[in-house]
Amino acid sequence: MGNYTAAPDLLKDKIILVTGAGDGIGKTAAKTFASHGATVILLGRTTEKLERVYDEIEVAGGPQPAIFPLDLNETRIETFEYFAEAVSQEFGRLDGLLHNASLLGQRTPIANYHFGTWQQVMQVNVNAAFGLTKVLLPLLENSPAGSVIFTGSGVGLKGRAFWGAYAVSKFATEGLMQTLADEMDGVSNIRVNSINPGATRTSMRASAYPAENPNTVTTPEQIMPTYLYLMGDDSRGVSGKQFNAQS
Ligand code: NAP
Repeated sequence: MGNYTAAPDLLKDKIILVTGAGDGIGKTAAKTFASHGATVILLGRTTEKLERVYDEIEVAGGPQPAIFPLDLNETRIETFEYFAEAVSQEFGRLDGLLHNASLLGQRTPIANYHFGTWQQVMQVNVNAAFGLTKVLLPLLENSPAGSVIFTGSGVGLKGRAFWGAYAVSKFATEGLMQTLADEMDGVSNIRVNSINPGATRTSMRASAYPAENPNTVTTPEQIMPTYLYLMGDDSRGVSGKQFNAQS
């Protein structure tokens, strides 16, 4: 959907949660959704980064966002339930959920992979996405057309040496997306899809490919058409699919 053109008011009056909204693709997605009329809930672990995104949205004239600092390395479901209750009190529904936050972890052979790092990557990339989805489903059901987007990766479709827990977590992400999409099929207005951003100029990409010249890499802004398509009503009825943002 790289050639999709979104109407300026595509997301008017929609309430959209973005995880990992303080940096990289999540930051650009939050600002882009707001620029198309959405009220965005900015979730991330670094409050100062979220505050900067909040300020940038306000300066650009977007709807006033909400900030929710949360470390997704959190394992208690009560923390997610508290968050869902806060969203319920403030907004009463959720129209969009972009699972974007992820940890890269180590780039090393499985034989050497640190057990604790493995657990953290699986927690942030998979378990937290499951926990958040579970507690937010009732609020997504309150939307006339809720959209859930998971973030995949090329290494989540075909395993690759030294990508360890990150690759495995992205396979699991596709599984979570497909399972939830199938459960929603025919019984809910919620659609569920995933986006593989492709190589994108962020600090995660720079950590994975330190020798690469960042100027040769696609920017987060360039991949936004796919995010807008899946978040807006033009994708109603589309579910269970994996999208490549750069094709
Ligand atoms: P990024 O620049 O590293 O940004 C990741 C965001 O997730 C940051 O805002 C980070 O917060 C947040 N985050 C990490 N751990 C968290 C935690 N425990 N709790 C809450 N928030 C946490 O990464 P990116 O490149 O934008 O990646 C965004 C998504 O695209 C990820 O799912 C990634 O796997 C996927 N992806 C990226 C590429 C690429 O080339 N960039 C390619 C394929 C897939 P802090 O800023 O506070 O650290």
